[in-house]
Amino acid sequence: MAIQFEDKFKRKFYYLRLSVTDVCNFKCTYCLPDGYKPSGRKNSSFLSVPEVKRVVSAFASCGTSKVRITGGEPSLRKDFNDIVQAVASTKGINKVAMTTNGYRMESQVAQWRQAGLTHINVSLDSLDPRMFYQITGENKFSNVMSGIDRAFEVGYEQVKVNVVLMKDLNSGELPAFLHWIKDRPIQLRFIELMQTGEMDSFFDKYHKSGVSILNELIANGWIPKVREANDGPAQVFIHPDYKGEIGLIMPYEKHFCESCNRLRVSAMGKLHLCLFGEQGVELRDLLQEDTQSDALIERIQTQLQTKSVSHFLQDGNTGMTPHLASIGG
Ligand code: SAM
Ligand code: SF4
Repeated sequence: MAIQFEDKFKRKFYYLRLSVTDVCNFKCTYCLPDGYKPSGRKNSSFLSVPEVKRVVSAFASCGTSKVRITGGEPSLRKDFNDIVQAVASTKGINKVAMTTNGYRMESQVAQWRQAGLTHINVSLDSLDPRMFYQITGENKFSNVMSGIDRAFEVGYEQVKVNVVLMKDLNSGELPAFLHWIKDRPIQLRFIELMQTGEMDSFFDKYHKSGVSILNELIANGWIPKVREANDGPAQVFIHPDYKGEIGLIMPYEKHFCESCNRLRVSAMGKLHLCLFGEQGVELRDLLQEDTQSDALIERIQTQLQTKSVSHFLQDGNTGMTPHLASIGG
């Protein structure tokens, strides 16, 4: 290994979140309520497969072992299988995950697995088709459910399901979600709603604190599971009576940033040290030739020294991130 990516707070980075597109076909109320709007940038194109390969190789040579491919909706990329293959074949990468809205999962998950995708997170904010429509703006509940079934059929032993629980919308579904995973090897990941730049009163109206969910789980016998080095931001809980697990992602919790092990690269090739807070550092000029890898690593390592100790979300900071589809949630 060349060097290990580490910041000045001694946090080590094992996990890269790589966005491959900003485009999305859903209109989630908390993300792209008016749908995807092209940026109007001239000559803009998302990272090509060779660029993906170079950036992932640089990260892998400095300790990254897990890559999550995200977006926008990553499965909208026509060359998505080639992207997965490029990441999966990189020396040092042993986990290749994606986050998807599940729209194309039923028809494509077998190919994704064949290309080398080892882990899947699918977003499903409701078990009620009408509420699903209300939150996502798309009538695709049954497609997503069939996609989850199909993922098990093609050999995934566990599927992670992301849920953003919101007050007065889907928060009453916690018992239904728990019932759903009693006999299914699903890790439900409750993500606390985060305030982004384009949100106004939405956050105040719908934000539900993760701590209330945590207390409910503990009171009902759920116990914390031990973390691995390249694990994501979730605190995971297990229960002897349940086949499924629960992951809680609580970005507003005081110590959330202490265990940060993640860096992000946007679909336009910018390094983001945090989901919130900065414009990103251009990497693309160093992704054009294999011979640029040393310079690329040096730029990332130098920037890493400027990574902030916290996102300061708890102080009302929404940073420069307009919505999570723009950087890869
Ligand atoms: N389109 C894919 C999907 O929805 O799974 C991948 C990209 S999406 C930005 C990744 C995750 O971020 C989804 O699970 C989504 O629910 C979550 N997300 C988006 N905006 C959010 C917000 N403001 N607060 C919390 N989670 C959010
Ligand atoms: Fe699209 Fe995912 Fe954002 Fe929903 S959360 S609008 S599916 S990028």
